[in-house]
Amino acid sequence: MASLDWGYDAQNGPEQWSKLYPIANGNNQSPIDIKTSATKRDTSLKPISVSYNPATAKEIINVGHSFHVTFDDNDNQSVLKGGPLSDSYRLNQFHFHWGSTNEYGSEHTVDGVKYAGECHIVHWNSAKYPSIREAISKADGLAIIGILMKVGQANPKLQKILEALNAVKTKGKRAPFTNFDPSTLLPSSLDYWTYAGSLTHPPLHESVTWLICRETISISPEQLAQFRSLLSNAEGENPVPIQHNNRPPQPLKDRTVRASF
Ligand SMILES: [Zn+2]
Repeated sequence: MASLDWGYDAQNGPEQWSKLYPIANGNNQSPIDIKTSATKRDTSLKPISVSYNPATAKEIINVGHSFHVTFDDNDNQSVLKGGPLSDSYRLNQFHFHWGSTNEYGSEHTVDGVKYAGECHIVHWNSAKYPSIREAISKADGLAIIGILMKVGQANPKLQKILEALNAVKTKGKRAPFTNFDPSTLLPSSLDYWTYAGSLTHPPLHESVTWLICRETISISPEQLAQFRSLLSNAEGENPVPIQHNNRPPQPLKDRTVRASF
């Protein structure tokens, strides 16, 4: 397995990542199973505060194992503050994880329950670092909002994203994606769990303050099928759909999950 060849199949998937990324067995890995009876309510936690300027939405990119919707992060037009964070974190991108069936696909689980998908809204600490490149490996470098997606009704908030997938069917393709506010993807309640964790795929840096929303959002079977119709191959190669891209839960070890509620 070459460093650029990691994926989610038996030969290059999560069980193999530690060969090239020993931190895969570290003490602060993500995702985790949130055992609600073991979480600690922390009344000092502040509400999540997001302020996103839709004009900063930039591009949609097929990255081979998923797709990213990216944002202009040259200034503080779209930021996350509050929660457990002491600094202001700048929006960089959001993306999704899903499974090959509707029975699984989320990365985080709650009391062992798997959801059909998970949305990650990725921010970096712009108060302390000059760019996401610097921030991505620092303990306080990233803050990611995780939203669990429960299979059910079609979610109209996903429609613009799903329509844009046609333009980026194959790996490496990118297309303009403008005028979008990712706060529309958030559930109505911003109650959250928070813990110190990692990126959920290589390079698996332990640099993420996770904020996992307690409330789920919906996604329909047809919308999940549209995620799975995205291709992991480059244009002109044999079509290989991205069937699943979720890492299973990792050991909690000595960490505590705090609850805002
Ligand atoms: Zn993710």
